[in-house]
Amino acid sequence: MTRLADVVRTSAQVGATASRLAKSAALAERLRSLAPDEIEIAIPYLSGDIRQGKLALGYRKLPSPKAAAAATLTLREVDSVFEQLKITKGRGSASQRAELIDALFGKATAEEQNFLVRLIVGELRQGALEGVMLEALASASGVPAALIRRAAMIGGGIAPAAHAALTQGQAGLERFAIRPMRPILPMLAQPAATTRAALEALGEAAFEWKLDGARVQVHKAGDEVRVFTRTLNEVTAAVPEVVAAAREAASASLILDGEAIVLRPDGRPHPFQTTMRRLGRKADDASLRDTLPVSVFFFDCLYNGESLVDRPLRDRRRVLEEVIPAKTSRWVVTADPGTAESFYQDALHHGHEGVMAKALDAPYEAGRRGSGWLKIKRAHTLDLVVIAAEWGHGRRKGWLSNLHLGARDPAGGFIMLGKTFKGMTDEILEWQTRELQARAASRDEWVVRVRPELVVEIEFSDIQKSPQYPAGLALRLARLKRYRSDKRAEDADTIETVRRIHEQGLA
Ligand code: AMP
Repeated sequence: MTRLADVVRTSAQVGATASRLAKSAALAERLRSLAPDEIEIAIPYLSGDIRQGKLALGYRKLPSPKAAAAATLTLREVDSVFEQLKITKGRGSASQRAELIDALFGKATAEEQNFLVRLIVGELRQGALEGVMLEALASASGVPAALIRRAAMIGGGIAPAAHAALTQGQAGLERFAIRPMRPILPMLAQPAATTRAALEALGEAAFEWKLDGARVQVHKAGDEVRVFTRTLNEVTAAVPEVVAAAREAASASLILDGEAIVLRPDGRPHPFQTTMRRLGRKADDASLRDTLPVSVFFFDCLYNGESLVDRPLRDRRRVLEEVIPAKTSRWVVTADPGTAESFYQDALHHGHEGVMAKALDAPYEAGRRGSGWLKIKRAHTLDLVVIAAEWGHGRRKGWLSNLHLGARDPAGGFIMLGKTFKGMTDEILEWQTRELQARAASRDEWVVRVRPELVVEIEFSDIQKSPQYPAGLALRLARLKRYRSDKRAEDADTIETVRRIHEQGLA
């Protein structure tokens, strides 16, 4: 039975060396020692996460009782306390939660207490470890890292793929094969400043209209059709128009990727919120369907009797045009800057957000912001993470108002790029005050520092040099466009993307 102390030791070994090989060896040794039901507990811990997600506990709520002399806590015990914390909610739960956490910390040694605090608060989280973890899993299971990565992308995370690889070897990964009715994480895009910059990065590329609606992944198997959102929630009942479109497609076994959007009779888009309202319905509503009909534009085909994700975009697009020609996104393939720019201007002219530029040779990279998809928007936006907020004054007294915005550092943590209090309605102020306080990590008179979890889409006019900020760069005229509850902090834009946009310059 693995003890918490074993994982703490491995985590310390990994942190103490800069050598990738040594990190991977330490992780592999630990992975080999795990019992099957410990795998999905330990893997998140080793990457600074917990499988329960968030426990809503900040530093202030964590006790520091006298440390235990001997390390006796097992992984299962810790996991079961986290599980109980997760389900203890509502009235009277505060004292029960305090008791649970006190008892856990009372059984921990000083090193374990220190580890638990940092684990619970999210301070140990290390996205950068993913590659090393895959190598370690490959070495511990004898399954090639590429296959495990693939299963992780499709299965929604490393832990389930690791469990299958470590307990059943390569054969265990079969259940992660791409198949209709098994939603997979959608491919994401990185921002580019201009169509010219996109062409420089990709060479000849496909440009498509970028519609500001809702991502839909549509699965079809014979008569059955199901529709999933970006976060893989099922919305089939809310969008009969999308279901009907898929039924008409000239193939019985499909996974399609596209955008659903409510358009006005003249073909221009309604605001994004209107599409969201339609998708938020639990059931079909005939009157809403009449007044706010949903259109769907497919831009990718991930499955047509067999998986297509490893095929280049040009092949996938060919299949798409064959199976559902009337419902594909508008696109052009070009290497010519003038053609790309006028295609982009045409999209804006029709009221759309911008264009996507896509590498014709790239596979479908499920769950990744692959370098094969670049988005170019009229309003320059970045997805950033709120790292702190300042109390407002005057009319905004009592509300957390000025947000501190951070870009993700691939090496870990977030780098502040500026602040904004613009673009917030009273409703947003109220909501964010509540949500940010629930994530408070520390506070003083002016500022509440928060766990970096909330993603905001920020519009800005430019990126400037600024000695005051840690990256030497700051956003000019930043403004909140919206909270992106469909994105996690790991999905936020990186500081490298920000540097690239700065170097390329904005049009
Ligand atoms: P963003 O949400 O700003 O990161 O932009 C990516 C989103 O744009 C995708 O998740 C889709 O919902 C949407 N989108 C609209 N048109 C396209 C398109 N032609 N190709 C890919 N994504 C698109």
